[in-house]
Amino acid sequence: MKPYSCPNCGRLNHFEVRVCPNCSFTLGFDPASDRFLFLGDNATTWRDADGTEQDVVVCQNNNEFAVCNWLVPAVGDQPLCLACRHNRTIPDLTGPTVPERWAKIEAAKRRLFHTLLHLNLPIETEAEAEANGTAPGLTFDFLYDPQGEATGTVQITTGHEEGLITLNLIEADDVQRERMRTSLGEPYRTILGHFRHEVGHYYWARLIEGTAEVEAFRALFGDERISYEDAKSQHYGDGTGGWSDDFVSSYATMHPWEDFAETFAHLLHIIDALATIDGFGMRMTKWPGMDEQPAVDFDPYHADTHALVSEWGPFAFAENSINRSMGQPDLYPFHLSDKIVAKLDYINRLLQRAGQGDIAPREQPQPVAA
Ligand SMILES: [Zn+2]
Ligand SMILES: [Zn+2]
Ligand SMILES: [Zn+2]
Repeated sequence: MKPYSCPNCGRLNHFEVRVCPNCSFTLGFDPASDRFLFLGDNATTWRDADGTEQDVVVCQNNNEFAVCNWLVPAVGDQPLCLACRHNRTIPDLTGPTVPERWAKIEAAKRRLFHTLLHLNLPIETEAEAEANGTAPGLTFDFLYDPQGEATGTVQITTGHEEGLITLNLIEADDVQRERMRTSLGEPYRTILGHFRHEVGHYYWARLIEGTAEVEAFRALFGDERISYEDAKSQHYGDGTGGWSDDFVSSYATMHPWEDFAETFAHLLHIIDALATIDGFGMRMTKWPGMDEQPAVDFDPYHADTHALVSEWGPFAFAENSINRSMGQPDLYPFHLSDKIVAKLDYINRLLQRAGQGDIAPREQPQPVAA
């Protein structure tokens, strides 16, 4: 995402900021106007950079738990912000380290929502989806797993089912997450990556399942009607699936649903990273063999896939090089083959259409509750 500046002093801050490190004013992000506002001297009035009063209040999850920096309209009956209102279950906060882990999870979730909002994608809560017949709504369970923490064998599986995304809090523990990453042989594992993957399953259910769109999906990703359980045991059992150039990750080879979710996550990685590069106006003046300097001279949230991928290649290589200069693992340890780009293109087109309200109707309408 682009960097946001403090509306009081102008300093660039990270998206998670709550108090400006330069001027010490309290800041809040207003998703409706896509900018930060600051709490004026009287500590009750939110103002924009011009000093104009804004009719907003902090999200209830900030008041109660200090885990959110987003703002909500003062008028209306919704005390939770656009990201927090999708939570169904928050963790038991009495557990050790739970509050700080939950805060990390919410911070990653806000980054996810920032991208979804910029893509103008439908994001109904459970109640909204029920009211307008667009089930499933998007909901989250964030759960603490005491037994998993003690034994190292997780009891609560991170995953998606009919709009509900469950995230085990163990993923917010750096040591545990790194242990799981290495034991699974993954090059990349982050909370934000989990969110982008799981929400990919949600959008499969929201935009493809039960619609005419499913045929185009199957042509690229395969037939999702094969047994998920068999595919899973094969993936973790004899490992005959293998990881070819056609899949963005080993996990994507398991089942067409996972391939879609993994590729969906990569599209969001690329769009958000390019929006950041664009936000700083970065360009590369010493990239050989190209007529034009690599730069993001387009809106990455509404760009064609060719533009996204052709600029991402050089920047990903340069960013990997910077990380290697610091002795860090590659920022983007992946290679995009033509087949993967074709899948990215399908998802990008699907999301662009959905962003304009062009969503395939359900052929079998959801049963209406009596
Ligand atoms: Zn400031
Ligand atoms: Zn919130
Ligand atoms: Zn998945």
